[in-house]
Amino acid sequence: MSQTETVAPTELPRWDLSDLYSGTSDPKIDEDLNGLRESAEKFQADYKGRIAAGVCTPAELKEALDRFESMMNQATKVGSYASLHYSTKTTDPARGALLQKVREKSSEVSTKVLFFDLELGHVEEKKFQQYLKSEELAPYKHYLTVQRESSKYNLSQEEETILEETANCRGRAFRRLFTETVSRLKFSLEVDGEVKSLTQSELLAYNYHPDREMRKKASLSLGEVLEQNTPTLTFILNTLLAEKQVMDRLRGFERPESSRHLDNELPEAAVDTMVEVCVKNFSIVEDYYKLKSKLLGIDELTHYDRYAPLKKSEESIAYERACSIVLEAYNAFSPKMHELAKPFFEKGWIDVPVDEGKRGGAFCAGVSPDHHPYILLNYTEKPRDVMTLAHELGHGLHDRLAAKNHVLDYHPVLPLAETASTFGEMLTFEKLFAELDNDEERLALLCEKLEDTFATVFRQVSMFRFERRIHKARREEGELPTERFNDLWQECMGEMFGESLKLGDAHKWTWAYIPHIIQTPFYVYAYAFGELLVLSLYARYKEQGEAFIDQYIEFLAAGGSKAPQDLLAKLDIDVTDSDFWQGGCDLIRENLKRAIDLAEKLD
Ligand SMILES: [Zn+2]
Repeated sequence: MSQTETVAPTELPRWDLSDLYSGTSDPKIDEDLNGLRESAEKFQADYKGRIAAGVCTPAELKEALDRFESMMNQATKVGSYASLHYSTKTTDPARGALLQKVREKSSEVSTKVLFFDLELGHVEEKKFQQYLKSEELAPYKHYLTVQRESSKYNLSQEEETILEETANCRGRAFRRLFTETVSRLKFSLEVDGEVKSLTQSELLAYNYHPDREMRKKASLSLGEVLEQNTPTLTFILNTLLAEKQVMDRLRGFERPESSRHLDNELPEAAVDTMVEVCVKNFSIVEDYYKLKSKLLGIDELTHYDRYAPLKKSEESIAYERACSIVLEAYNAFSPKMHELAKPFFEKGWIDVPVDEGKRGGAFCAGVSPDHHPYILLNYTEKPRDVMTLAHELGHGLHDRLAAKNHVLDYHPVLPLAETASTFGEMLTFEKLFAELDNDEERLALLCEKLEDTFATVFRQVSMFRFERRIHKARREEGELPTERFNDLWQECMGEMFGESLKLGDAHKWTWAYIPHIIQTPFYVYAYAFGELLVLSLYARYKEQGEAFIDQYIEFLAAGGSKAPQDLLAKLDIDVTDSDFWQGGCDLIRENLKRAIDLAEKLD
């Protein structure tokens, strides 16, 4: 790592979406949307009523699925373009309008084809079993099985149609309002005597600032701005909680998180077991922050000390250097992965700089098997940005490996979706760690890694518990005041630190900008699931070397073609076994031990 000049945002690479469309007014967009509508109308005319009646031969049903899949590919292409283009300038009305138009047109298409999945649920059991056993339908067996399971929670076709047609003015609209509200927020912070106006990404980077006073000021600024916006943000959250309560009741989901488990194709027992094991291991976090308190020489740690760096100087890693670190790490693991990674950098598949109106954070959008993925970053030159690049690239590689599956089986379900990303971070971490030549640097990097692991495992489990509690509270107490959200947030996030760290008052507002809670309820446990899984996989890689690599790549290439339990069974993993999860936690404890030993050596 070297001290480098700050690269002006304009010089960092932007992604090139022109292989999708040329801009908001590209006439191809309307052509494709119209073509999609026509295909959907034809599909409806050909199959409506016939699927449920079970009159299709397996070959006919296969043809229907092929056509359905091809519409999905087309819809994903135009939908991805609209949302990717929007994400780099959410404040541009033309991009917002395009996104809304595409969503409305896609809803129109969805309402025309939604009979298909619903009717699959109504096929007589005997006939359905015949379909599952037929050779023609073998490529769609997983999709058919999943649809059959979900169909238990479907409403009538008329009801589903109304829900889809109104979706953009219900939950989806509130989620968009959240994105726009949070993207517009500006945070003022005094830096070197000058008051600056910062975006959220820029402000959050101060969590890692070596000067405690700066971290404190940034945390106060965050709290203040969020507090001013809580009337809107609280209203959005309450509305979404209420909508979910209604939908769960109508569809017959027992617990607020049940629908997520269904989407994740995971048994409830696996998630409950993982969460319980993590809560039992909160003491790892507590013991770590006791060590950190000593290392920093601060008696009472608070929330803005969580990510305080151990070294005084702030290191910058230029984007180019980050790219070569990450690429080398992947190359050392497998040249095949390296080959798959190169085009991301050479062909403009990554949007790198922080920019006004650009969505915060980072993501990888997989689009479809016949198109490559795109990555969005907000690169601020911090070492953790290197990890984020490795993370998102992992997603991209997973997508590329899985591209031989049809679109209905392309994306792995969420809990496995974080496997390749987290594994990529692990490879990058070990590369950085091995390159260092003194214990002080090693300790600092190890602590960073532990903090990242906590953020991925224990923090997500805490957020999951927060979500459980707010859904429960909304169901039992009605519309909740901001203070109630604040209290539950402090309670859930505080529990994992035990006696080692006291969350300050400004922290209580920080539930309000977490997108997952709003956008995808109960998404967060997938991060913990993925990280603990990867810790075990990584241990196997160290143990088995070459033999593991092929197995692992094969596992990724399977995409979402099987349920997680089935895919993992091939690797001899049982996700309902608490020992398996404890094994992952033990590896985190080992890293903590490594850090404690290094600290003693340096003392
Ligand atoms: Zn991820």
